Amino acid sequence: MKTKPEILFAAFEATPFMKTGGLGDVAGSLPKALLSAGADVRLILPKFGTIAEKYKKKMEHVADFYLDLSWRHQYCGVETMKLGRLTCYFIDNEFYFKRGRAYGYGDDGERVAFFSKAVLEALKYIQDFRPRILHCNDWHTALIPVFLRSQYAGISRYDGIKTVFTVHNLKFQGIYPQWLTGEVLGLDSEQARHMGMFYDDTVNFLRGALCTSDVLTTVSPTYAEEICTAFYGERAQDIFNSRRGDLYGILNGIDVKQYDPMTDKNLFAPFSAADLSGKRENKLALQRQLGLEEDPDIPLLGLVSRLTEQKGLDLLVWILAELIGEGVQLVVLGLGDEKYENSFRSMAAAAPDRMAALITFDEPLSHKLYAACDMMLVPSLFEPCGLTQMIAMRYGTLPVVRETGGLKDSVIPYNKYTGEGNGFSFANYNAHELLFTLKDAVQVYRENKAAWAGMVQNAMAADFSWAVSAAKYMELYRKLLQA
Ligand code: ADP
Repeated sequence: MKTKPEILFAAFEATPFMKTGGLGDVAGSLPKALLSAGADVRLILPKFGTIAEKYKKKMEHVADFYLDLSWRHQYCGVETMKLGRLTCYFIDNEFYFKRGRAYGYGDDGERVAFFSKAVLEALKYIQDFRPRILHCNDWHTALIPVFLRSQYAGISRYDGIKTVFTVHNLKFQGIYPQWLTGEVLGLDSEQARHMGMFYDDTVNFLRGALCTSDVLTTVSPTYAEEICTAFYGERAQDIFNSRRGDLYGILNGIDVKQYDPMTDKNLFAPFSAADLSGKRENKLALQRQLGLEEDPDIPLLGLVSRLTEQKGLDLLVWILAELIGEGVQLVVLGLGDEKYENSFRSMAAAAPDRMAALITFDEPLSHKLYAACDMMLVPSLFEPCGLTQMIAMRYGTLPVVRETGGLKDSVIPYNKYTGEGNGFSFANYNAHELLFTLKDAVQVYRENKAAWAGMVQNAMAADFSWAVSAAKYMELYRKLLQA
């Protein structure tokens, strides 16, 4: 067997081209780590209209053709550029992708179907690369293995291509009325049923990938266990249980170069574990910028998050007044459900020197928060992996998390007897457990400076780079190619 597995990594978002959440971070950084680990990996994603001009200018035309999606006959371009050593391909169709956002349109089902089919079709036109593995990510790419095993079955170019499907978030599955199956996907009902896509009178894209992919992975060992249960399984637990032998949980990493407090250009001041004076400067500067009381001794808590139920915001909103009453400051940076946006806005308006609500998506500002805060809140209802806790630790900010998914796998709770730990955690989805945990954390911050300083060192020393996880993916690819 050849030692360099050829992998096409397909995702609907990847930094620095498009990011709405953790998937963007992972798809932007894992392929780079796989390259370093010795894979011949390339990335493919839609050519969104919002991609920065500097990247668009670098793109070269590879091919164009017309793609049949059911009765639709659509233009499809393939463009390419190098991002460092990584070759990236872009699927071009202005009707589907020249829009302000990545998702949230009435025709998302059709857009992802177009992208998925285009990825397979593009393989005919990309001359110097014949992937042996298609690594697909989340429901937007779930139709790639589905089409591969149906419409592309028996075509010699596609023979023997293996598929890895990674679940980044099981909540989103791509669920549509069944008429879409023939009308948009061009699949006949029997095929769709056979591939496990029909469920409760709907066609479910994700289930198709779960049933047809050779290997399933998810982004932390704990979440891999959790999704086999009814509480976390989002009604797909039976599939995961029946495929336990093919299911792997591999913890995500972060791009430690992008998130480096010594070199991060977004910060007010650089700092390192050896010299934390810059962290204090970041705190004071952020307090000033946001109109909070400027005082380095007030515990500064942060939340950088999509504002959705998943993130445990019902717990936080429930205890918000009590928490602010503890004499702490809170900065929320997020965008999402109106009810959370409004709760945070009104609390910030009531206590402007204690709380700021930044209802926006702002990458540079997020870095300032990671650097300036003392604690980062991640009280999620469920969390496949979570990156914010890892990024926070890299900047010496201690995470306060609920013990679920990747939060459980990456945060070691403070042990007051041994001083061990790099954060704080609680088990039950209960607002007062969150509050008591936060009160404990604030108490350690105020009264046990040595323990706090030790934990900051532990957090900053933790290795969340991709190296370990990339090696695990490599092992998996090799095993798959030998099978
Ligand atoms: P999820 O993918 O569920 O949204 P993750 O913790 O895996 O959660 O990843 C979230 C990523 O998005 C992190 O890089 C975080 O910093 C970033 N992020 C979330 N909300 C915002 C925001 N409002 N502004 C800037 N970055 C954000």
